[in-house]
Amino acid sequence: MLYLIFTVDGDWKEYFDVKLALEKRRPDPTIMQELIAKEIKVATRYLEGRFIHFIHASPCACTFFLGEPFITLWNSIISSGGDIGVHCHEDLPYNEYYFEDTPRMRKAISEQASALRGSGLETCAYRGGFLAFNHALIPVLEENRLYFDFSCEPGRHLVHNGKVVSDWTDSPESLYRMSYADHRRKGDSSVYEIPMGVSEGNYLYFEKSDANTIEKTADELKNKSEENDIIVSVLTHTYEYTSVEAVADIVNKISILKKFGRFINMKELKEIVKNISDKENRIN
Ligand SMILES: [Zn+2]
Repeated sequence: MLYLIFTVDGDWKEYFDVKLALEKRRPDPTIMQELIAKEIKVATRYLEGRFIHFIHASPCACTFFLGEPFITLWNSIISSGGDIGVHCHEDLPYNEYYFEDTPRMRKAISEQASALRGSGLETCAYRGGFLAFNHALIPVLEENRLYFDFSCEPGRHLVHNGKVVSDWTDSPESLYRMSYADHRRKGDSSVYEIPMGVSEGNYLYFEKSDANTIEKTADELKNKSEENDIIVSVLTHTYEYTSVEAVADIVNKISILKKFGRFINMKELKEIVKNISDKENRIN
């Protein structure tokens, strides 16, 4: 079986435009509210509510998404069968990246997770900005009860000024339990990685893959999943929900994926993971 987890990273276009003055790069509350409402509408209609919205946290947005009207939106996602996750952008896009600064990441991640829980919102999912991750973050995620990481794009190797930002070279291409020593290897940490769906160098990354590529990739993944279940994520961003045409394109790609795989939410994912570990325990 091919299991799919639909995800939306809560970013807006201006965030990445570092030529703009800081004030212009901040999110607009009305626009963000509208776009997130559209995500929820699409998910409710076509995914029975099953998706994860990764809540953007960055020095540029501070606590922007931790107040109203956003708390109401996050509650509405959860009550419709969806989930929320933590999406830390400790960066100045294309200039500075702080993902290797573990104390800084610990502060950013724990502040976001505890603020959400303080508002009554439970979360267990994490994704790094720019899909950045390193093994030092595994204990940080465990401390914060974020047991499912979605930062992996298998094969990704992003380097800036000679420093690695995101390295997923030779990582597994379906759900795995991460090694404390190397996030790209299977191991015995309490954090599971759910990589982005990939086949033959093409990804279930809506912005980068047209409908034909999504269909071909999903078809290949389905064939591979007949031997062993495959559990992967599908990536979109909030800014992709801007126009009627863009939303229609997303809906079309979702309907293509539904022919090949089954969309699941975090509750269902946890049940699948429990079955896998029960089976492993019986074997060992
Ligand atoms: Zn992002």
